[in-house]
Amino acid sequence: MKTQPTASHFIDGAYVEDATGAPIDVIYPATGKVIATVHEATPAIVAQAIDAARRAQPVWATLSGTERGRILRRAADMIRDRNHDLSVLETYDTGKPYQETSVADATSGADALEYFGGIAATLTGEHIPLGGDNWVYTRREPLGICVGIGAWNYPTQIACWKGAPALACGNAMIFKPSETTPLCALKVAEILHEAGLPAGLYNVVQGKGAVGAALVTDPRVDKVSLTGSVPTGRKVYAAAAEGIKHVTMELGGKSPLVIFEDADIENAVSGAIMGNFYSSGQVCSNGTRVFVHRAIKEAFLERLSARLGNAVIGDPMAPETSFGPMVSEQQLNIVLSYIEKGRAEGARLVHGGARLDREGYYVQPSVFADVTDDMAIAREEIFGPVMAVLDFEDEDDVIARANATEFGLAAGVFTRDLARAHRVAARFEAGTCYINSYNDAPVEAPFGGSKLSGVGRENSKEAIAHYSQVKSVFVRMDDMEAPF
Ligand code: NDP
Repeated sequence: MKTQPTASHFIDGAYVEDATGAPIDVIYPATGKVIATVHEATPAIVAQAIDAARRAQPVWATLSGTERGRILRRAADMIRDRNHDLSVLETYDTGKPYQETSVADATSGADALEYFGGIAATLTGEHIPLGGDNWVYTRREPLGICVGIGAWNYPTQIACWKGAPALACGNAMIFKPSETTPLCALKVAEILHEAGLPAGLYNVVQGKGAVGAALVTDPRVDKVSLTGSVPTGRKVYAAAAEGIKHVTMELGGKSPLVIFEDADIENAVSGAIMGNFYSSGQVCSNGTRVFVHRAIKEAFLERLSARLGNAVIGDPMAPETSFGPMVSEQQLNIVLSYIEKGRAEGARLVHGGARLDREGYYVQPSVFADVTDDMAIAREEIFGPVMAVLDFEDEDDVIARANATEFGLAAGVFTRDLARAHRVAARFEAGTCYINSYNDAPVEAPFGGSKLSGVGRENSKEAIAHYSQVKSVFVRMDDMEAPF
């Protein structure tokens, strides 16, 4: 497959190059080899993208929701038709195994385009009677120009999760992918325009944080949606606040997964695997603090280790591979440093713990048991395949410990006790909770974090509120009164 894109940026309906921007090498994580080079957006490229969006957005906003939605749904169909090629590209961009990318990335992007394409025609205001002949009606209007800034773990999905609701509501989008994974969003832009999206409505500009910052601080930008870490979220939120811009912040986490003594152990092990090792652990909502009831702890660890032995680690393009490399050498080193910290702090390594002796950025799926709440591996987001297993005995105690974190992205509980499951889910301080499951993210459900994990929600009808604003129009039919 050709991995070098036609050009670095996609602006005003076409690929655009400006080779004066600093080069960014794209590295295939499975080999460490350069597979493409793009150029960072210069100020001229950023200005071109904003100008194009400004020109296109007011016209787009005058179309009916049905017309806008039709284009998004067509793009969804095209993405599904091209799922194989898009999945291969996602694997090149991120190193995630094709076994995953073929079912979780372009497909979930298509789901978002289909869902918001369908919802576009239903966006209406309200009629509010005021008594007499007077009333208010509301109009749901677009915000204008939305900037999307993406993390590197789900480049196609993030490009669609932000683009689909923005476009459905009548906005224009300028998307900056992570510099680590710049390829996939270009394909999303290309397909949207092939599906009939007018030029200028979905633009992609490449670059590092400085390009993101230039977009966020531009006074012509109305909304910023970031998927990234908490430190970046703080900076972007503060910059957006300066211009009183709308924000959505999808940030990091250190989510708890609580497994009670009556849980189905095989299902709980599946949940812990999906919540720690999918995408080599590079998932924001991962349940990396696994609290296991003392009565079943050893049985759980035994089954977990046995199941981890079945992981097929290797060439991400091979269909049987179920566990790929870390996205970058930097991320690999972060993970290795946390494994060292876990050892140094006295946690018991029960599985993995080593870099693989092969090219690329591979580290074994790793599990520490006997972890205590104060250890760095139990407190800090690692964003890699390092599971911390902690013991508990009492429900109130485990809830308090599960919530004793500044993050609040997700949380899960495994139990056969229905009343306990709902009671625990209600007490979790997290935006997305799972009962006897983990890490599902269907487009129909709101997704996002509480506490430091974020502001706003992506997906579902909730996202509409974050990409539109309501105007109230007061209508007087009787005579206007005044004191003089
Ligand atoms: P970063 O926070 O490092 O970067 C996120 C994006 O912001 C990148 O595109 C980055 O550019 C850009 N950026 C960096 N600095 C600025 C700035 N000052 N102004 C504007 N943009 C800026 O996150 P990672 O890419 O390392 O992704 C991992 C993080 O993302 C984890 O913390 C993870 O939990 C979180 N995440 C959250 C999700 C959620 O939905 N809640 C989902 C996925 C990940 P560049 O990288 O090119 O420098």
